[in-house]
Amino acid sequence: MEIINNFSLKNYNTFGIEAKAKQFVDVTSEEELKTILQQYAGEKKFILGGGSNMLLTQDVNALVIHVGLKGKKIIKEDDDFVWVEGMAGENWHEFVLWSIDQNFGGLENMSLIPGNVGTTPIQNIGAYGTEIKDTFVSCGAMAIANREIKTFSKDECKFGYRESVFKSEAKDQYVVTSVVFRLTKRNHKINTSYGAIENELASKNITNPTLKDVSNAVIAIRQSKLPDPKVLGNSGSFFKNPIIAKTDFDKVHALHPEVPHYVVSETQVKVPAGWLIEQAGFKGKRFGDAGIHKNQALVLVNYGHATGQEILNISKDIQVTIFKTFGIRIEAEVNII
Ligand SMILES: Cc1cc2nc3c(=O)[nH]c(=O)nc-3n(C[C@H](O)[C@H](O)[C@H](O)COP(=O)(O)OP(=O)(O)OC[C@H]3O[C@@H](n4cnc5c(N)ncnc54)[C@H](O)[C@@H]3O)c2cc1C
Repeated sequence: MEIINNFSLKNYNTFGIEAKAKQFVDVTSEEELKTILQQYAGEKKFILGGGSNMLLTQDVNALVIHVGLKGKKIIKEDDDFVWVEGMAGENWHEFVLWSIDQNFGGLENMSLIPGNVGTTPIQNIGAYGTEIKDTFVSCGAMAIANREIKTFSKDECKFGYRESVFKSEAKDQYVVTSVVFRLTKRNHKINTSYGAIENELASKNITNPTLKDVSNAVIAIRQSKLPDPKVLGNSGSFFKNPIIAKTDFDKVHALHPEVPHYVVSETQVKVPAGWLIEQAGFKGKRFGDAGIHKNQALVLVNYGHATGQEILNISKDIQVTIFKTFGIRIEAEVNII
């Protein structure tokens, strides 16, 4: 394992922000991870996956541990289900495509989400009506303090909307090393009800979609809506969609009857943050090399040489304006480093 000093993270974050790690190491096995955690006990550490859910606003004054553990395998199966384990450093989209190739169902709606398998439980990733918690069984995680592997059950992960225990009580205490999912082998629950999946399938005259058809539809929709980080630096949705009290929603609705919304419960309503940002006039705006995407107001972008601080400043400006305009607080989904 090579420890590199003063390492550029530009190619390790999808925003393409230039920031330096004080030290950087790539670990490819649990043994290596254990060794490094032991050697650097007491020193600051930062865990890095695919770098697709972070905004680097400064150099990282820590040992950056890039989790590169690879492998995937079937650990158990019965007539209906298969339990598959992916190691943390596996690329998520490739893992999804592999599961579809085996005719294992459950992950297809989350095709093309960037990042790694080990990071999926951190914010309970989700897209097109599916979240990781729907197929998640457990994950292995190494405690940074004593290097022991603990298995977290689904309940222990305390999944919520873009939330888990790893973002709250257990924050910065564990390195997720592997994740187990339970997928269907037959009687797949095809879910085409969300977003534009049905229209996309209809445009291809597909009436009885396979897992692969759903995956292809999701890929096509995502490619048409979201900027490719390889072309334009970004971290996907910068903000979470706010969930607000029904009483607060009623006030917004009275002034803006056209506000799109999803009823979460009798007392709570979710409002698309992208709509709020667009209404506040930010969509497509550019400030130097930082800006708000022209087609998708929820995505902040780096046109080339933006600093993390410049992008952070825009995000704060958006938050203040949304609060002043609608009385709604929006919260970053991206991890601000
Ligand atoms: C174009 C684009 C589209 C996106 N679309 C979606 C979407 O539809 N739905 C969605 O939910 N997300 C989406 N995202 C966000 C992102 O892809 C996910 O959050 C993804 O799971 C992040 O994985 P990563 O490996 O890149 O994490 P990183 O950015 O490397 O890390 C994110 C956080 O997790 C911590 N971390 C990383 N690995 C580990 C580990 N092994 N153990 C413990 N902590 C760790 C890091 O310290 C950091 O705080 C999108 C991003 C982009 C760029």
